[in-house]
Amino acid sequence: MNSLVLESLNGILEDKSVSSQDIMEIYSNALCDPGELFLTSQILRKRFKGNFVTFSKKAFFNIANLCRDTCSYCTYKSEPGDDKLSLMSKQQVSELVTLAKQYGCIEALFVTGEVPEQKYNKARDWLRQNGFESTAEYLVYCSEIALESGLFPHTNAGNLSYDDMKELQKTNVSMGVMLENISDRLTEKGMPHHMAPSKRPHARLAVLENAGRLKIPMTTGILLGIGETVHEVIDSLFAIKKLHQKYGNIQEIILQNFQPKPDTAMHDVSPADERYFKIIVAISRLIMPQMNIQIPPNLSPESYQDFLSVGINDWGGISPLTPDFVNPEFSWPAIDAVNEHSKNAGFVLQCRFPVYPEYFGMVNPELQDKMAAIADDKLVGEKYWR
Ligand code: SF4
Repeated sequence: MNSLVLESLNGILEDKSVSSQDIMEIYSNALCDPGELFLTSQILRKRFKGNFVTFSKKAFFNIANLCRDTCSYCTYKSEPGDDKLSLMSKQQVSELVTLAKQYGCIEALFVTGEVPEQKYNKARDWLRQNGFESTAEYLVYCSEIALESGLFPHTNAGNLSYDDMKELQKTNVSMGVMLENISDRLTEKGMPHHMAPSKRPHARLAVLENAGRLKIPMTTGILLGIGETVHEVIDSLFAIKKLHQKYGNIQEIILQNFQPKPDTAMHDVSPADERYFKIIVAISRLIMPQMNIQIPPNLSPESYQDFLSVGINDWGGISPLTPDFVNPEFSWPAIDAVNEHSKNAGFVLQCRFPVYPEYFGMVNPELQDKMAAIADDKLVGEKYWR
């Protein structure tokens, strides 16, 4: 083990600040021997998150999967006439809300493509038929319906404007937008975000800045394995850290491993390498020791439990009811199985709200009262989700 690396790891444990150069050295060293890195991330994880691992019991509302943009890896986006086209009507939303309640879901995850109405007549007609001018306006309505029935909304609809987020903040306990990566290189010709203006780093950062100004508990994250360099990943993590230092509202980071989809331009690109993925998870814990760090268990179906030993403390949203429309080939594991795997690894599984306990104070007081009615120490009371 390189003595400088050891010194950096010890420094992190003593709460000293760490530079991106230090992290790069730790990464390079871990390629040969990740043992010390994993040990350090485990110590930090235990120090700040104890022996708990959380998840959110959700229903995935695929509100509108038409999208103005095109990312080379995306199978979520549809075109008019596709079998997978989803433009949920008010009635479909209400029906799914009812079903989600029957299944004991807590979170209503509302997802759309990027401003569908900007590109598609079909989307404009759908909005008009339902009585709305914009997707964002419709999302406000859907959030109200969900909230009235006792579900807690979390919206991920791409680059929402400041005003739209301000409106949604009244009903959403948190919101999400993936940074994906801070690198402009990934938007160049031939790269995955070339045809996706909303994924320009400055555009994503602007949305995250607005969420910070509005004090919205925000989920963001990075997509790994799409052609990025390690430097770009490290820069992305430091960019998120900087935002959080400025506004204090980044409630969690999702680290998502790329999985190729047959109907996309990147169908023949290999999935993110698992060793690389684990090392990135561990260095994320080093860069932000107190952050909530999540990997989606369905994207590592054979090995997700192994990630508990490299620094994660959350499994994200798991649905007993609806598919993962972003990764439809990967079904959610059963909550009982996740519970069992977590227990076998020495962790207690807890169900959280779409907002983490430490961010409750940022949420509209009326929503806080609604959560308090079913909460046990700011987590979902066991009888409401088991
Ligand atoms: S990843 Fe999001 S922005 Fe990119 S094409 Fe898919 S839906 Fe659109």
